[in-house]
Amino acid sequence: MQASNATTMKELVQEKWKKRPLIISGPCSAETEEQVIETAVRLHKTGKVDVMRAGIWKPRTRPGSFEGIGTKGLPWLQQAKKVTGIPVAVEVATAKQVEDALHFDVDVLWIGARTTVNPFSVQEVADALRGVDVPVLIKNPINPDLELWLGAVERVAKAGIKQIGLIHRGFSSYGNTEYRNAPMWHLAIEMKRRNPELMMINDPSHICGRRDILLDVAQKAIDLDFDGLIIESHIDPDNAWSDAKQQITPERLAEMLDSIVWRKEDTVSEEFHANLEKLRQQINHLDDELMQILGQRMKVAEKIGQYKKDNNITILQTNRWNAILERAAAKGEKLGLSKEFITKYFDAVHMESINHQNKIMNA
Ligand code: PEP
Ligand code: MN
Repeated sequence: MQASNATTMKELVQEKWKKRPLIISGPCSAETEEQVIETAVRLHKTGKVDVMRAGIWKPRTRPGSFEGIGTKGLPWLQQAKKVTGIPVAVEVATAKQVEDALHFDVDVLWIGARTTVNPFSVQEVADALRGVDVPVLIKNPINPDLELWLGAVERVAKAGIKQIGLIHRGFSSYGNTEYRNAPMWHLAIEMKRRNPELMMINDPSHICGRRDILLDVAQKAIDLDFDGLIIESHIDPDNAWSDAKQQITPERLAEMLDSIVWRKEDTVSEEFHANLEKLRQQINHLDDELMQILGQRMKVAEKIGQYKKDNNITILQTNRWNAILERAAAKGEKLGLSKEFITKYFDAVHMESINHQNKIMNA
């Protein structure tokens, strides 16, 4: 643990809020007093954790799963804090939960993804926060909607909360993918661009839903200049009462944090390389997205090809193509892209589209 000048818990939380990277860890859910205290002690031993998280009230998709230990778990967190000196964070979704958490000296509150989607709930939480001085982290909504996320930030800010941070935990999508929640990094980047003053931390646990790819996601977030990480940890992950597949032990957490390349060094030339690497990562990431989108575009072109075939229409319709080019040139100019580039680029895309349509026509 880094040396601290703080003399009160409030001052310590202020210090932590500014620390980069900010590391938050702890169990998905508080389960028993022993589990909470042992987690805290083992996290403290790593010397790498700034704030301890624990879910007290758990929003579960289906009834019948463990819905959190409730208010009786809050004194366990108080005790964990007393033993380790680490500030604690809890998810709140109702006014009563805010009151209870504050009554038991919870240091940082967070609004969960299932709450951020609902303006009524966010407003209820915000109203309960009026006149209170506590840092609040706001998770992205489960659906990929930046307006909802922004709305939650605005409601909390209007209630007078000064310390607001963002948590990127990925977005729900139907069907099986590599991730439990698709990261859609571009949305987090856009949110950060619109709110440069707010810290943005990444939640690899809820993005991945499994242990084996946590490090990749955490590294990517750090490469994209996120301000910190929130990662679930448990003394016995396989037997956790919620999110067992994605939790790791405090010791594994420490190893993982050690193997992240933080890419921030003191010497000038190392800093230069680190910055360059970060930019290159951004380029790689954007290129990946462009390719994905181009792939999608070609799929739509194939559908059009099929439709034209069914209706006996030619592939090339000059008017349509001119309209596309004119529209693109006008848009491109606003984005600082030269007409020459736009023309070349769209010619290439058009050729590829025609090839895809041809294949369908002649299939
Ligand atoms: C959690 O942090 O345990 C949680 C419920 O996360 P989310 O709101 O991101 O689903
Ligand atoms: Mn969880």
